Amino acid sequence: MSKIFETAVGEGRDFLFEDEAKALCGLYGLPVTRIEVVEAEDDAVRVAEGFGFPVVLKIVSPQVLHKSDAGGVLINIRDAEGVREGYEKIIENVKARVPDAEITGILVQEMAPDGTQVIVGSTKDPTFGPTIMFGLGGIFVEVLKDVSFRLVPITRVDAEEMVREIKAYKILEGVRGMPPADQETILDILMKTSEMLVECPEIKELDMNPILVYEKGAKIVDARVIL
Ligand code: ADP
Ligand code: MG
Repeated sequence: MSKIFETAVGEGRDFLFEDEAKALCGLYGLPVTRIEVVEAEDDAVRVAEGFGFPVVLKIVSPQVLHKSDAGGVLINIRDAEGVREGYEKIIENVKARVPDAEITGILVQEMAPDGTQVIVGSTKDPTFGPTIMFGLGGIFVEVLKDVSFRLVPITRVDAEEMVREIKAYKILEGVRGMPPADQETILDILMKTSEMLVECPEIKELDMNPILVYEKGAKIVDARVIL
């Protein structure tokens, strides 16, 4: 586990690549998407065919922390030809928007189906240490700041309170024909994230955004870790 951090620090990075962040999350039993980093178009096609379509392609670069801002995320790629086109396109986009970007590789991952978007994150309080944050994705966090916080470690009761105290809680129960979100899975994610934060003081900031939650289960489709 500490090896993931050592590699990043050794390469002079102050953040983990998405595949590293997800590997770390996976060690704590968090439900991340299947993922593989490749360095050649043929390998991207082979991995995509192994996962099954549709797939998502993303940039892996030490100079790119926010991947979609750099044109570095393509979703819903449906066939081998799309993978080849997407591979070229992402590199072209990133080179145009971040001219000094070194391209470490291209990340191929399974495309998660649509679900209720939630976010779990963490920042460090200078006095009290790591916090854990929960909210619904999109405008709920970005515009309305409708989030709940605790210091870690949290108990299961803390996790339940965090979920229930956001103003948009009702959305998790299913509204306007949307199915309810699996709250048991959300609690499980909060507890496991708390455990990871306690055991990994290297994590300065964590942002699992978005997590797609289904009637049963969830998929973490993006994970960012700042060291
Ligand atoms: P960024 O670094 O810009 O935050 P993300 O990895 O979050 O990049 O990708 C941008 C958006 O693409 C996500 O918010 C999500 O809507 C969509 N997305 C990314 N990965 C997947 C995936 N595996 N399955 C489904 N949607 C995805
Ligand atoms: Mg994201």
